[in-house]
Amino acid sequence: MNGFMACRQHFHYYKFSTMRTSVRDIVAAPVSWRRRHWLIAGAALTLTLLAGAVIPRWASATRQPETNALTTLNLEVPPLPSPQTTDGDTDTDASASAGFGDDVDWQVVTVRPGQTVGDIFRQHGISPGELQKLLDDRSNATALHNIHPGDEFAFARSADDSRHGVRFDRDDHTRVVDTFAADGLHQSVQDRQLERRTYVAHGVVERSLFDAGEQAGMSDSMVLKLANAFGYDIDFAQDLRQGDSFTVIYDDVYCEGEHLHTGEIIAATFVNRGKRFSAFRYTDSSGNTMYYSGDGRPLRKAFLRTPVEFSRISSLFSVARLHPVLGTMRAHRGVDYAAPTGTPVHAAGEGRVTFRGWQNGYGNVVILQHGGRYSTLYGHMSRFASIQTGQHVSQGQTIGFVGMTGMATGPHLHYEFRVDGVHRDPLTVTLPKPEPLPPTEFARFERQSQPLLAKLKTLEATQLALAK
Ligand SMILES: [Zn+2]
Repeated sequence: MNGFMACRQHFHYYKFSTMRTSVRDIVAAPVSWRRRHWLIAGAALTLTLLAGAVIPRWASATRQPETNALTTLNLEVPPLPSPQTTDGDTDTDASASAGFGDDVDWQVVTVRPGQTVGDIFRQHGISPGELQKLLDDRSNATALHNIHPGDEFAFARSADDSRHGVRFDRDDHTRVVDTFAADGLHQSVQDRQLERRTYVAHGVVERSLFDAGEQAGMSDSMVLKLANAFGYDIDFAQDLRQGDSFTVIYDDVYCEGEHLHTGEIIAATFVNRGKRFSAFRYTDSSGNTMYYSGDGRPLRKAFLRTPVEFSRISSLFSVARLHPVLGTMRAHRGVDYAAPTGTPVHAAGEGRVTFRGWQNGYGNVVILQHGGRYSTLYGHMSRFASIQTGQHVSQGQTIGFVGMTGMATGPHLHYEFRVDGVHRDPLTVTLPKPEPLPPTEFARFERQSQPLLAKLKTLEATQLALAK
């Protein structure tokens, strides 16, 4: 443990220029990374087809769609009156043409960063007065006030100019078509057919967690969900090692055959430095959904393992392992997380702000008190989030942003975990375990988790066999 502690503590005063460059390079080149993986994936497929039973040793990460796992969600909206004919064009389905006839062309517009609904609608022939009519309907207002880059709107105008309209998705479940004509506004609302597709994936960490996830076919946001589920047990910024592996059952949400958004982690195992962790998503009889370990204890604990936004530092994994300590090391008590300036810093646990201000050496620092015995300290921040001394903060709340104020030679978070005022390694501090589910609830949990566990084990065994 001593060797490990030294390793955890020495980031503080070494040169950060190499790290910063690497982060920027990785961030700046997502496309080429993706391409490379597509090429690898393509090559793997070709090899497998050509060689039959020969499976390349490095093809350790896979994602497989599950058969017979399609589910259709309950639809909340009643069926529409009078759908018209469809011509099979994805942009011109029957329902979308309501009010226009089937000869109208919908022009699909994708929202770009910085655009407003007002801009987009005006550019496509919807006047501010007409937009206001749409906003007067409260159920439209939510969707129209919260547009995001990538959202889609479609606009249409009839050949004789007598009517024009807009089509958009109010939410995951609902598509709206609004038509303006001489006699006013007509609105039709349709169900969107949603399905959840279940996938299984297995990955081995070679470079970084995101890299392994990508090779396993998982989106970055699903990798984040995986990291969040295990974020009370594993510090993904410091504890991840080459050879760590994960096996995941998760789902994605599709609408009319198109991927709509990432779903949730349903069950997963993560082997970190030889230690195995499990997570099962479970909704208890009162309707609360959380992740539980196999023995029915909530994964959620009093303290997060990583008090800084993980996605911003994960790329440092390989860099941190490749470069040993450079420069002078100075004894200090704490764990340092190298991360770009401005990376959000999170309260490790629920607590109260006992200090927010400047201290020599620490620069901009926040100290939180958690109950009677525990406190946490966050140093070198570039600035604070809007928190005041004495204020209550919740776990995961952003309290400030990474910087290099005080005695720091590069941007990083200096984090201290103290018990009765004495710095301790959060890893070695034994905190009380969360209470397990009560017996009746546990029996129900076990009925759901056992088949998932069996599936995960089968999958792991298969992958181990393939890797040999
Ligand atoms: Zn430090």
